Amino acid sequence: MKNVILLGPPGAGKGTQAKVISEQTGLAHVASGDLFRAALRNGTELGMLAKSYMDRGALVPDEVVIKMILERIQEPDCASGVIFDGFPRTIDQAVALEEALGQQGSGIDTVLYMTVPQDVLLKRIAGRQTCKSCGATYNIYYFPSKREGLCDVCGSELYQRSDDTMETAQNRLDVYFAQTTPLVEHYQRQGSLIEIDGQGDVSKVTEAMLKALQSLSDD
Ligand code: ADP
Ligand code: ADP
Ligand code: ZN
Repeated sequence: MKNVILLGPPGAGKGTQAKVISEQTGLAHVASGDLFRAALRNGTELGMLAKSYMDRGALVPDEVVIKMILERIQEPDCASGVIFDGFPRTIDQAVALEEALGQQGSGIDTVLYMTVPQDVLLKRIAGRQTCKSCGATYNIYYFPSKREGLCDVCGSELYQRSDDTMETAQNRLDVYFAQTTPLVEHYQRQGSLIEIDGQGDVSKVTEAMLKALQSLSDD
């Protein structure tokens, strides 16, 4: 097991699970949204460009995302495998990733496809809080921090993403169904897709994912 994609709608729990799985397996966690938000914090041109799309809940253009991710996976921590979170989101992104990995003699080993009903997704997105410093994710409805507004892990302040309003969230779900769901069939055809129920305790979902990854490396 080397390169894993977490596929699923916004709010499915990709970031939450990728963080744990990365810690437990040593795979590098590569999250396109996190990279854009870091670029914005650093005041780069890339960050500013991405923000204009993110604020509307639209996808950042393929060539911009692809360039950023292909550069990221050249870094040394990615050599022993990557867990992709939020990328690819279009067929063109998927094809570009496959080509780049193919050139390195590797490929996508598994796609974990997380499913969660839409009404739950909206609540998860609207209630999401993220730690400014360590990136831990909470939810005011489902998964509150012990001390309001503060991270359980490191004590830093929590913030709400500016694109996590109900209106933008609905837009992002529409974009997901229009542009990203074709990837389900794409990976199904390749035989690499495993569906994971994204509801239930975070630890239960992690367990199901690790089991799916394990069963693969046993083959
Ligand atoms: P994604 O990266 O897919 O957009 P996140 O991992 O950021 O999703 O999770 C979205 C929100 O849902 C966060 O507030 C997170 O705390 C919460 N969440 C994640 N997994 C679960 C779960 N299994 N049950 C309840 N809430 C969850
Ligand atoms: P979520 O999992 O809640 O959708 P992300 O952090 O993955 O949040 O993405 C936030 C925003 O960043 C997206 O709405 C989009 O504007 C941009 N983005 C992230 N990843 C991609 C991608 N692979 N392709 C295009 N846009 C992206
Ligand atoms: Zn923290």
